[in-house]
Amino acid sequence: MNLSNSYSELPGNFYAHVQTAPAPKPHLLAWNEDLARHLDLDELTQDRAHLARIFSGSEPLPGGVTIAIAYAGHQFGNFVPQLGDGRAALIAEAISPVDGRAYDIQLKGSGLTPFSRNGDGKSPLGPVIREYLVSEAMYRLGVPTTRSLAAVASGGRVMRDRVHPGGVLTRVAASHLRVGTFEYFAARNDRDALQSLADYAMARHYPEAVAAERPLLAFFSAVVAAQARLVAHWMALGFIHGVMNTDNTAISGETLDYGPCAFMDEFHIDKVFSSIDHRGRYAYGRQAHMAQWNLARLAECLMLLDGTVDEYEALLSAFQGDFEARYAALMCRKLGFPEPIEEHQELVTAWLQRLQNEQLDYTQSFRQLASRLDANDPPLFDDFEARWLQQIDRQPGGREQAARIMATSNPRFIPRNHQVERAIQAAYEDDLSIFNELQQVLSAPFQEHPGLEHYALPPEKHERVLATFCGT
Ligand code: AMP
Ligand code: MG
Repeated sequence: MNLSNSYSELPGNFYAHVQTAPAPKPHLLAWNEDLARHLDLDELTQDRAHLARIFSGSEPLPGGVTIAIAYAGHQFGNFVPQLGDGRAALIAEAISPVDGRAYDIQLKGSGLTPFSRNGDGKSPLGPVIREYLVSEAMYRLGVPTTRSLAAVASGGRVMRDRVHPGGVLTRVAASHLRVGTFEYFAARNDRDALQSLADYAMARHYPEAVAAERPLLAFFSAVVAAQARLVAHWMALGFIHGVMNTDNTAISGETLDYGPCAFMDEFHIDKVFSSIDHRGRYAYGRQAHMAQWNLARLAECLMLLDGTVDEYEALLSAFQGDFEARYAALMCRKLGFPEPIEEHQELVTAWLQRLQNEQLDYTQSFRQLASRLDANDPPLFDDFEARWLQQIDRQPGGREQAARIMATSNPRFIPRNHQVERAIQAAYEDDLSIFNELQQVLSAPFQEHPGLEHYALPPEKHERVLATFCGT
């Protein structure tokens, strides 16, 4: 195993050394063998009891260094100068033998740290299961994201709205650098620390920026582009992050923090999922705007080192174009078109309007539309479908090509909240069957899974999950 922890070589005010709390009776619920292999950790795979001890924080990972990272952040628009890893610990960094990249290995729910404030440093099992399922689904859907290596039941109890079984999630990330990490040092006017942080971030994620004439501006531009791509991808999949605070905005451009998130069932542009988001700040249709707001906070930090407001504004203004181009390309593919020309984009708009007016399921509607390409279907096309088919038929690749594109752009399976909730409730009763079946369908979300088709279905009225709690 090739383990280190480069973050622990940064100045002492970047983190605190911590000791994770031993779990009362750790029990392994999930181990991601595929990811373990990618990280060269597969020699651990044989011994499940050992895995449960390591990935509950009961025993150190040999070769790792355990730290909690300092960061700040704007939460729902309000600045909090100190947040930090309050219930998380970075236990090691692994260099993948497959791609040569560095990955952070972090335990979530492994006990108190100097950043715990009023919290208990623990996590109920519910959010552990949710993040495991949703982050791995996101990865298989092709979206940049942190991943999940392990889910462990701690055997202990965690007090929230009621007593919950405790859990620990092992999260794997390109890094845990956030916009909020920059804000932490900017708020203290600590320019040396900001420069060290920027140097570290560039070397790790955007090495091409290091060689640029104005490295920090090049770095900012790269982060803007990565966020624009990310949010476009979320939107195309009907994903609502739910808490796009600056501390949940990863510099790497990965999806970070699966709290009150959701893949939408029936489409609505204003849908909000977080039960604490009363004003709809992080509604589905506001995500591109909020990402830009977060990037403006990053610019304010970097400006302490180099660049003017005008320079950063010019770079940030590239977001909208990047986002729109990427979103249009993805949406046109969802309708079966290889290129996002204007007349296809008009169809996208009409299609989404229809989904919203008729309260149709976002994910299923695209698959149902694709089934209309089947020549054997009765020709009962409405006005939208007639226009759509006309444009498809004008493509050199015709319906066959459209069917291929749609089959690989429109998932059958997404982690629907009502199923995730069922998996959690069953796991609380020691039944992992739903959790395991969901893992199976979500590991290949574009394929058929005979016998498990019901996981593709939207919720019945009584099954709907209307809001999710952070559940921390
Ligand atoms: P999050 O909701 O995951 O974005 O977390 C926001 C902040 O609250 C971070 O600083 C977390 O470390 C902290 N936090 C959340 N839950 C807990 C907890 N149970 N114990 C201590 N800190 C927590
Ligand atoms: Mg967070």
